[in-house]
Amino acid sequence: MSIISNSLKKIKPSPTIAVTQKARELKAAGKDVIGLGAGEPDFDTPNNIKKAAIDAINIGDTKYTAVDGTPALKQAIVNKFKRENNLEYSTSEITVGTGGKQVIYNTFMATLNKGDEVLIPAPFWVSYPDMVLLAGGKPKIIKCDEKSGFKLTPKKLQKAITKKTKWLILNSPSNPTGAGYTKDEIENLSKVLIKNKRVHILSDDIYEHITYDNFNFFTIAQVSKLKNRTLTMNGVSKSYAMTGWRIGYAAGPSDIIKAIGKIQSQSTSNPSSVSQAAAVEALNGTQDFIQVRSDAFKERRDFVVKSLNNIKGISCLKPNGAFYVFPSCKKLLGKKTKIKTDSEFVEKLLKKVNVAVVQGSAFGLESHFRISYATSMEKLKIAMERIKSFCESLN
Ligand code: PLP
Repeated sequence: MSIISNSLKKIKPSPTIAVTQKARELKAAGKDVIGLGAGEPDFDTPNNIKKAAIDAINIGDTKYTAVDGTPALKQAIVNKFKRENNLEYSTSEITVGTGGKQVIYNTFMATLNKGDEVLIPAPFWVSYPDMVLLAGGKPKIIKCDEKSGFKLTPKKLQKAITKKTKWLILNSPSNPTGAGYTKDEIENLSKVLIKNKRVHILSDDIYEHITYDNFNFFTIAQVSKLKNRTLTMNGVSKSYAMTGWRIGYAAGPSDIIKAIGKIQSQSTSNPSSVSQAAAVEALNGTQDFIQVRSDAFKERRDFVVKSLNNIKGISCLKPNGAFYVFPSCKKLLGKKTKIKTDSEFVEKLLKKVNVAVVQGSAFGLESHFRISYATSMEKLKIAMERIKSFCESLN
């Protein structure tokens, strides 16, 4: 009999981490690989934030803290929600975890009973379904294709809700498509949710600050009737280039917040004290670099989208946020090219021209692939030339 638990057998390791690791190994073996798989900004953490962490170490801020976040960080989060989202929370409605990932995982562990359904619009962030499975719930995938800009529509939402639906996950701007929901789109989805009173909403706003073309970010808790059923998750990883510091947080109903803290108290305890001090500075300090970095990402997005649309057989929507694009490679799959699936497409792309991307099926939508353009323009230029030559060799 296997030592491994049955619940673990239901899940797979993160495919995006696997691609990043494979690219790393090939590079270490001397191959000239360009990795477009990783979901993290290539920028460094700003100096004021680093300094806050160094100061925290120097003054001995190196001990256990309150399990679900220091009072100073919780207050900084309360202020952030008020300042940026016009949302009022008290510190008892805030929890802090070791990355947004832990906050989401704890949420499902704390709230799902066997058979509870979680609605996940696809394309989705790879970890959502597996986290739901680990917690004993049932991921219910709602496919959203290019025609709706990869976004959930009220009609599809209504159709997917059953008596067992406990959560809907909304992720805007999205990983992997970069699609952001407008205020109108969120309000239209809200009309369905207001009618279906049992459904809670997990709003994953981790890419809030990476938006383009004057996109007006709006989060669903701002619809007042839904605030008491919404858990708004965010973090410092992407906005402040702090992926390695591992700080994420959420705001929502105090019973859910308390339950999340209970899980954390018996698993990891508090997130790193030093990282929390750094996150206080991230949220309270200057926000000037956010725009500068978004402008740099925008230049890359424009270049990547244009380059991809110039490749015969590839088509790519222009997203308004995050640092991903999700092009279609459907026209390059089939008898003529002898490539059957998006997984084979990305495998061959890596093997033939040394460019690492992630297959769309990992995100719940086949015949596509995800490119993370959070890398230098120089690398992106070479990568786009390689992708072009690979695709042209198939035509
Ligand atoms: N949500 C989405 C959509 C993400 O893409 C990620 C990271 O890739 C996370 C949450 C979690 O981020 P972290 O755990 O680094 O805060």
